[in-house]
Amino acid sequence: MPATLRALRADITRLSVDAIVNAANNSLLGGGGVDGAIHRAAGPALLIECRSLGGCKTGEAKLSFGYKLPVKHVIHAVGPIWNGGDRGEPALLASCYRRSIGLAAQAGAASIAFPCISTGVYGYPVQAAAEIAVATVREATAAHPGIREVQFCCFSEDDLTVYEAILARHV
Ligand code: ADP
Repeated sequence: MPATLRALRADITRLSVDAIVNAANNSLLGGGGVDGAIHRAAGPALLIECRSLGGCKTGEAKLSFGYKLPVKHVIHAVGPIWNGGDRGEPALLASCYRRSIGLAAQAGAASIAFPCISTGVYGYPVQAAAEIAVATVREATAAHPGIREVQFCCFSEDDLTVYEAILARHV
């Protein structure tokens, strides 16, 4: 059975899954948007662990614990800054999703939630980013059958509409 993929509108810090993904920056030392919300909800121990991770390259991801969040793990993925689309952005964004699924599988997670990586301050167009997110997650979960459920956590109703249309194509 393939993993279940679904989209929902929520604050990702409220979700009870095994792992949530953070749209982090290269420093892994916190920022605005979803990154700030995750650090606030997890408490200061998350930042202390993140300081020991040595940053993260764009397109890669690192694993931490969830501390005060209702999840065991946070996966800090660094998406690309949108620069017109011909600077490797699609491959880097796909890599974030692939690496995150790989780390979640290694950590023994069966369920994982993603925010819309790169589509906030980093400016990646939502439709294009969502196509990559769904296609890459389908591929990566086929390679990691321990991951049973993936949630695409949308912060806005518009983002949710985009994801729902993409997911509906495949059922
Ligand atoms: P990036 O720098 O990768 O673009 P942002 O945090 O600016 O990251 O935005 C990524 C996405 O996360 C955006 O769709 C934004 O609306 C969304 N977002 C912000 N806060 C939350 C939250 N608490 N839960 C889920 N998504 C959030």
